[in-house]
Amino acid sequence: MEDDYAPSADGMPPEFADPEENAEELDPKFGIETSTASLRTLWSAWRCNEGSGRFGNPMIYGKSVGGVARPAVDAFLALEAALKATGYRASSRWAFNCRTIGKSTKYSLHSYGIAIDIDPRENPFTAGDRYSGKLKRQHVDAVLAIKNARGQSIWSWGGAWRKPDRMHFQINRGPNDVDVNWATVAGGARGSIRTPDEATTVGLEVEEDNVLTRGATGAAVTHFQKRLMAWNGAALPKHKADGDYGEETIEWVKTYQTGAGLEATGNIDGVTAALLQGDKV
Ligand SMILES: [Zn+2]
Repeated sequence: MEDDYAPSADGMPPEFADPEENAEELDPKFGIETSTASLRTLWSAWRCNEGSGRFGNPMIYGKSVGGVARPAVDAFLALEAALKATGYRASSRWAFNCRTIGKSTKYSLHSYGIAIDIDPRENPFTAGDRYSGKLKRQHVDAVLAIKNARGQSIWSWGGAWRKPDRMHFQINRGPNDVDVNWATVAGGARGSIRTPDEATTVGLEVEEDNVLTRGATGAAVTHFQKRLMAWNGAALPKHKADGDYGEETIEWVKTYQTGAGLEATGNIDGVTAALLQGDKV
């Protein structure tokens, strides 16, 4: 058992030697069609690169999971929807963790924001029946049923490996193949897990260079002005959520960014947008 990497920020215990190399054992029955080594290549630009704007911050079971690769945000939301729809109630979950596997120099897929651990205590990494943890067949099957528009499975499950890592799901595709066909998600349409107001700004979450800045107007501006006011009741005292990206909005975005540990640009880039929306729990 390796114990040489830090626990995640929400106090979750460190995952013991994450045997992701097991995933080299491809098994389409469990959706494992891309090797972990290939995934590292496909997602190399994301590795431990959480400050780059390449990450989004979807709430999974109501809490941050430390960030996920931005193209895969929908896939994580679909995983949550599928688990919820089949009655799974998660109490602990974590995705991003920049670390190598055990004592090797290979990076865990958690370092790329494309893996998530669900309830590590109840879904332990041990030998034996893969369904002996809290994650049962119906929960796992619902996640493995999630497909992209080409009918390819998006997720694979660590519980399928030779030594079952029951807590662990990982993305099974490259950045261009994680688009979710919501008809394959047990939890129903994407719209059912987001408010219409949020849905109108989805583009901000997935387009890296789509930045709201001085002079912008319209519903997306109003949306984030409302988020600023929800974050701090004193925000935007003069103009409120008027849909105009003016001086007052710039100053409050800077204040928010400073508090969140981001560079105070006054622009709502992808990371700022994701964090602002993440406050809505
Ligand atoms: Zn894991």
